[in-house]
Parts: sequence; structure tokens; C-alpha cells
Amino acid sequence: MKRPSLVAIFAHPDDEAFGPAGTIAKYAQDHEIYLICATRGEAGENFLDDTTRSIGEIREQELRASAKLLGVKQVFLLDYEDGSLCNNKYHDIAGKVKTILDAIRPEILLTYELRGVSGHLDHVAMAMITYFLFYKLPYTKKMISYVTMREVTDELRDYFIYVPHGFRRERVDEVVDVKEFWELKKQAIAQHTSQKLDVSRMLESMNKFPKEEYFLVHKKPIPNL
Ligand SMILES: [Zn+2]
Repeated sequence: MKRPSLVAIFAHPDDEAFGPAGTIAKYAQDHEIYLICATRGEAGENFLDDTTRSIGEIREQELRASAKLLGVKQVFLLDYEDGSLCNNKYHDIAGKVKTILDAIRPEILLTYELRGVSGHLDHVAMAMITYFLFYKLPYTKKMISYVTMREVTDELRDYFIYVPHGFRRERVDEVVDVKEFWELKKQAIAQHTSQKLDVSRMLESMNKFPKEEYFLVHKKPIPNL
């Protein structure tokens, strides 16, 4: 029997690892997992000495290695410029994501909460597009959007001009126990070696928090607000 599928939709290489890596690995046990990434993350720093490859090429390879560890069947890169996901590309991006989704017909979509977790505007754009497609497409049944906890965002105050407040545990819809996948998540994060500083910061901070990931769960029809 065909396994159900889940498509994770993000903006940058490392969003899958720093975000809901444990949940992706958990779903991979009984779902076909696909990952769509809008950019190659070429605005990120490069702590490697490798001058033979561009930062975009390096980060694409890091993403593919991380995705493989997590059990992702296929990665789709949309080839947008890192940091450029804005209104005038909105429909274009949504069209490209829709074409991929129409071929897969996934039951579940996974993305960030609408404020993009960290407040990165590329994340916000991809979250908005995913929400739009979730409610529009006939075959999607459930969408889970990744959120972080208040304690985590309290540590990120100066990361962007505005880092949205994280959630209180009791306000999330689903808490996924990812204890079993914690080491794998660390390994996925460690694949992003060009982002050494973020990687070490993340690995250190992970030790302080429960081995859990948190989501809002969306079902159809669209709720009355
Ligand atoms: Zn990102």
C-alpha cells in the first residue's frame, strides 16, 4: 500500500535541521517525506576554507546530507535568492510549490508558524504561501506549523529587529516527543558546517530544553476567526 506523504516547506538550508528535524525523522518511519526549500541560503556565512564551491553549492549539499539523515525521500530547490522572498515573487513561488505538490498530492504539509518562528521575512513568506496552498488544494488534509517555546525566543532577542515571542507549552496544539530522534537531529544540524557559529550555538542551547518539538495543527475547513 502506498504510504501517505508529508511535504515540508522551508526557505533556507538548515531550517529543516534547526527546526522540526525530530518530527521529520519521526514521520519518515511511516510517511514518504519530501522537502521544498526556496533558496540555497547563499546569504549565510561561510566558515569553510573551500573556495572551489560557492556558498550556495555548499549549503545545498549540506541540506541534502541533513535531509538524507532525516529520511527525506527527495529535496526540491526552488532557486530563489536568499533574503529576496517578497510580495512581487509571492504568486510565482506559490505556483512553483503548487506544481510540486500537485505531483506528490501529500496529505500533510509542514511549515513554520505565520510569524516565521524567528521573524525572518523569508520564513514568513514561505509560511504564508504554505497556508494559502493548504486551504486551496483538495488533497491536503492536515498542516502542522512549527513553533518555538517562549524560553527559546527569550534567548534570541537581538537576532533580528523583531523576534516574535515563542509560545507557552500549554498554547500549542501538538507536542511531539522526539527523544528517540534527538541524536539524529544533532547530526542533521552538524551537517551545516558552513554555519559553524549557528550550529554550535544551537547544539549548546538544545541541552537546556526538553527533547520535544511543538506545532500548531490546522485542519479544514478554514476556521472562523
Ligand atoms: Zn531560515
